Formats: sequence, C-alpha cells, structure tokens
Amino acid sequence: MKIRAAVLEQFGQPLVVQDVDLAPPKAGEVLVKLKACGVCHTDLYTASGADPSGYCDCVLGHEGAGIVEEVGAGVRSVKPGDHVVTLFSAECGECLHCKSGKTNLCLAVREQQGLGLLPDGTSRLSRASGELRHFMGTSTFAEYTVMPEVSLAKVNPEADFDAICLLACGATTGIAAALWKAEVEQGSTVAVFGAGMVGLGAVAGAKLRGAEKIMVFDPSEQRREMSRQFGATHVFCGGENAVQEVLDETDGFGADYTFEATGLVDVMGQAVEAARMGWGLATMLGVAGKGEQMKITPRFLITGRRVQGASFGGARGRTHVPQLVDMYLKGDLDLDGFISHRLTLDEVNKGFDLMHQQDGIRSVIQFD
Ligand SMILES: [Zn+2]
Ligand SMILES: [Zn+2]
Repeated sequence: MKIRAAVLEQFGQPLVVQDVDLAPPKAGEVLVKLKACGVCHTDLYTASGADPSGYCDCVLGHEGAGIVEEVGAGVRSVKPGDHVVTLFSAECGECLHCKSGKTNLCLAVREQQGLGLLPDGTSRLSRASGELRHFMGTSTFAEYTVMPEVSLAKVNPEADFDAICLLACGATTGIAAALWKAEVEQGSTVAVFGAGMVGLGAVAGAKLRGAEKIMVFDPSEQRREMSRQFGATHVFCGGENAVQEVLDETDGFGADYTFEATGLVDVMGQAVEAARMGWGLATMLGVAGKGEQMKITPRFLITGRRVQGASFGGARGRTHVPQLVDMYLKGDLDLDGFISHRLTLDEVNKGFDLMHQQDGIRSVIQFD
C-alpha cells in the first residue's frame, strides 16, 4: 500500500514527508494504522547524525499509538480493531531475558532491529529509488506501520491516542523507573535531576508511590514550575550546589532515591553523591554522549549507596504499558499535562524546531 511517511534522507537535513510503499505484514507481524505519535529527542538525535549507530534512509518515529488494521500468520495476541501502543523495547515473554524476570532487554528482535530491519532480516518499507529501513522497530512518523507482534502493547480502547502515545517512550521511562525499577517507598525522600519528560515522569511515579519529599533540579524556571503540577515539593536550579541542597533538605544524609534524567555525566555523579548513605539508590535514565564516562568516588559505594540504570525505565512494555494506560484512565496519571503542541505529519520538522528552542515538553503528531 501507499502511505505518507517522514523519511530521513540525509543526516542534519529536515525530514522529507512523501509517499512510500508499505508491504503487508508477514508471519508474526502486524499492520497498525497510526493515530498519534510523539516527537522525541531520540528521533532528533538520530536525524542530526550524532548517533553513531544511526542509519538512513529510514522512516523515523517511535512514540506511536494506533489501531490494528491487519495481522500476519500466527499472530494471536492482537486482532484488527485493537488499540495498541508501539514498543521499541519488545517483550516476547519467551527468551532468556524475558523469562528471567530481571530485565526488560528482550532478545527476540534486538539484532535485526538495530540494523533497521524486521526480525526476519527484511524491510517492509520501500520507494521507487529502493528499500527504506525501519527505525527502532517502529517507524511511526507514518500513516501506517508494520511491526512485530511482540513489540505492540494492547491497551484499553477508551484512552485518547494523543495521551497514550507518550507511554511508548518518554513518559514510561520516568514513571516505570520510579514505580517498578527503583520501587520508591511511601514516605521517602526523592531527588530528580532534569525536568524534561523523563524527569517529570519520575516525579509523577514517586508521587504515586507516596514519596513525602520530591526535590527537582532543572535550570529552566518553566520546567521547575511545571514539575510542581506533577508532584514536586521543592524545586532548585541545579548546578554546583545541587548535592548540598539535597543534603540540607534531608538532615545531611541524602535522598532515599535519586533519578538522573539529563544525560550529563557530571549530573550523574551528583545523583550518586546525593543518594543517602546506607541505602540510597541512584537510578540513571539519561543517555550520555558517545565515549563519555561518569566518575564515582568508591567511598560513596562502600558506605551503602547503590547505582542502577534502566532503558525504558525498566518497563516490560506489554506488561506495564497497559497498566499505565489504566492508571491514566483512572485519573492517577496526568499524561495530557506533558503535551505542549499538536502537529500534523507534514509539520514534523516543526516538532524538532520546538525541541531545539526548548519550547514545551512534548509535541504530538495527530493523524486522521
Ligand atoms: Zn523516545
Ligand atoms: Zn524476550
């Protein structure tokens, strides 16, 4: 079929929205009609050429939500009409990692996905000049996409697509990290470094878990104020004094839980130092630049601080994303508060411009 899609043709250049060909789903694959898609920093990072593992030509986009249109042979878990959230992080439930219950890094589609292909090593996307590759196994800057069944979370059909598409990446990363990766305890103290979408998600998750004090560090006043709406109780600019400010708020001990959501290695170091001696748990969520390293003073570990990291907040997509959609429907999670701009697919490059200008938290593309 012919579809409209935003193609990355050249690094550092605007995406080109055009007609491309999409082949029908093969065995284990699903055709999804997109209804909404967030514009994420990872799309921009790849489009800019900064990502060393990036490739083109490909159809970008990975924060999608939509409706199942058609299923390939052997697909059992979804059927036409089902509402789904797209997952760049699959959950097959059968591989060594999925069965371990210890990690969300499913091995099922990983290798081919990294090459821009579906699990059988081929692409469903093409145009007259040749084959196009998939991006993150999702390619959701498009009217339709074909994805592996194991990369789709079936969700409650009552939820708005433009809100739940954010659970495909950014929002879940922060929320799941607080809820299930760090397992923030009731009455605890929390420090969150960075109040972009991931940091705000961690704030929301910590609030849901009943944290008593939630400190947020971000240089943007607009974002600091926004973090209060998600549950921050104390806000700071960050910078050199951040660790001291956490200590001052916690009787000199440090926070029970810290979350790093900036990708800056110096801030990662602060997140470790600001964690409480004895049991403080520092969770790294930001993606650092290529080749960068973080420094940790060993004494911080000897005296009981722990450090962990998680991709997608440690969420197992097909298990956890439907739960988060239900929390949204119950009114426990404010996803609409993340949406700052609504765009059409043809305006996708404007979404990147808004990100460069640090205007708002998230732009969402809406499809007819
Ligand atoms: Zn993303
Ligand atoms: Zn798996």
